[in-house]
Amino acid sequence: RYDHLVIAIGSVSNDFNTPGIKEHCYFLDSNQQAERFQHSLLDSFTRLHQDDNQQQSLDIAIVGGGATGVELSAELYHLSELLKLYGLTN
Ligand SMILES: Cc1cc2nc3c(=O)[nH]c(=O)nc-3n(C[C@H](O)[C@H](O)[C@H](O)COP(=O)(O)OP(=O)(O)OC[C@H]3O[C@@H](n4cnc5c(N)ncnc54)[C@H](O)[C@@H]3O)c2cc1C
Repeated sequence: RYDHLVIAIGSVSNDFNTPGIKEHCYFLDSNQQAERFQHSLLDSFTRLHQDDNQQQSLDIAIVGGGATGVELSAELYHLSELLKLYGLTN
């Protein structure tokens, strides 16, 4: 029993129906989603530097320039600097 009930079930990212996002984007609403993105990113870096393919760099687009998007771009810059220490220069 209760006198007041508060429903606080959080929210999920809104893609504003921007074409392509639903199919291709990694959303960052949960730990699992963040881990999926992290694994995919590290996989991509590894593949880029193992394969003799033509691809020279990894292009990442961030949808949303709010706090999370800005923080992610700063973290990706930091990561790219870190990877240089391991000889991964792209
Ligand atoms: C990547 C990322 C980075 C962020 N960084 C910051 C930051 O640095 N600083 C900051 O202040 N904020 C940050 N935020 C925002 C902050 O996390 C949210 O504003 C805050 O967590 C919202 O709190 P909440 O309690 O409303 O929802 P949530 O924290 O989402 O909690 C909702 C809870 O309800 C549960 N739930 C959902 N549906 C049901 C259901 N049907 N029945 C029972 N339980 C249910 C969920 O499992 C969850 O535990 C960030 C958000 C993201 C996604």
